[in-house]
Amino acid sequence: HSSSLLAIVSHAKEYGFIYPSSEIYEGLQAVYDYGPYGAALKRNVQNLWWQSMTQLHSNIVGMDAAILMHPRTWKASGHVDSFEDLMVDNKDSKKRYRIDVLIENHAAELSAQGEKTRAQELLEKLQALLQAEELAGLHTLLLQEKIVCPISRTANWTEVHRFNLMFATKVGAQEENADTIYLRPETAQGIFVNFLNVQKTARMKVPFGIAQIGKAFRNEIVARQFIFRMREFEQMEMQFFIQPGSEEKWFNYWQQARWQWHIALGLTEEKLRIKPHAQLAHYAKAAVDIEYQFPFGYKEIEGIHARSDFDLKNHEVASRKKLQYFDPELNQNYLPHVIETSLGSDRLILMLLCEAFTEETITEEESAKTRTYLKLHPALAPIKAAIFPLVKKDNLPQKAQEIFKSLKYDFPLIYEENQSIGKRYARQDLIGTPYCITIDHQTLEDDTVTLRERDSMQQERVHVNILRDFLLEKVSF
Ligand code: ATP
Repeated sequence: HSSSLLAIVSHAKEYGFIYPSSEIYEGLQAVYDYGPYGAALKRNVQNLWWQSMTQLHSNIVGMDAAILMHPRTWKASGHVDSFEDLMVDNKDSKKRYRIDVLIENHAAELSAQGEKTRAQELLEKLQALLQAEELAGLHTLLLQEKIVCPISRTANWTEVHRFNLMFATKVGAQEENADTIYLRPETAQGIFVNFLNVQKTARMKVPFGIAQIGKAFRNEIVARQFIFRMREFEQMEMQFFIQPGSEEKWFNYWQQARWQWHIALGLTEEKLRIKPHAQLAHYAKAAVDIEYQFPFGYKEIEGIHARSDFDLKNHEVASRKKLQYFDPELNQNYLPHVIETSLGSDRLILMLLCEAFTEETITEEESAKTRTYLKLHPALAPIKAAIFPLVKKDNLPQKAQEIFKSLKYDFPLIYEENQSIGKRYARQDLIGTPYCITIDHQTLEDDTVTLRERDSMQQERVHVNILRDFLLEKVSF
């Protein structure tokens, strides 16, 4: 299983999608940089989400809040006091672990050894202790189960302690007087504090939504699943403000709508599932996750949460500013309730790469070779078409450049005249380019080109003047 993740990690690096951050200094754990094709893929994914929210719903508008916010925001939102994981340190290795992950991994080991009942009991104990926030009980469980540190193989643990996931920094020039501020751990609060600004200035009526795409930061401790869990990542969040009492209706609506969106991306339906939360976050009244079957198991990609009026109410109390909405239909003031859909751009990209990464064996005259390609939907592919003159002479490059120029305003393209045509096709397969257009001697006579499709490798002869409409149709959903 993990071998297929490793293959994706190295493919992503080798072909310009994703590199470890500051790699020349050995990288920074759980932080990654997007290369040319990765950055284009991320933009395509984000544009698609943005469009599906703000363009396809007349009652959803977008915004773009700052990463830095007034420190009282995070006190009011509950993040200063409860956005934390329970940790334990091994005294010998000096390594820090999330207690739930240690115990879950131990349960998985037991299960693999055939001790399924014991594993199940252990997980139930874990849930109960987490729910009751029984820190001492968790420590006892570690010792009773003789859970050892994966590195030092000793069971020499510190007490279980809380660890806040927010990154803190100082604002202002003088350290001693400076205020502690945080890098936002979620984009949602930028929406809540602007709720009335947006409602009034865009003249929105409940029910309405505010969508935002932006960076979020969490000092995650478990960090070895590539871009699945990062310390700096991007979220695509939409907060939908509704009348109190209509939560169930809208919770179901958004669960359905988000499910359909993922299916429309062309994902294998069998690999997706909806999972209700066993444990609710501090703000949530009801919550489900959309999960995808990654090479390392089913994991969350998007959360749909009923947040009640938790956030607006807390900001109203903390800021002493009225955040109530006047509902002209009910002729009444109230704090709207919120249904949130929260999706990570990076996790979505990891899911798309897992789905797209294809290794196929092709047999050609006795010999077999492997063809690797990215089966990305043309709408998401970083490059839509590559333009190749068959040879570097006889005016073919000029003709190819002419075609390139006629299409470059509408599509991201690659022009390539070096290497054999087979190698050029293979290279485009690796970055997921859905179409290759080859210009040969016949093109000079009749303006036809060879159009080659990535997945089927089918080639057909088409007239140049259909290319634009053809690509336009293919690169949209
Ligand atoms: P997890 O349980 O995996 O830590 P979460 O429940 O804390 O996730 P939310 O707070 O609901 O996640 O965040 C919403 C979405 O943001 C997640 O579904 C995920 O796609 C994304 N996300 C959250 N944390 C990270 C991270 N560290 N790296 C990348 N994406 C993240």
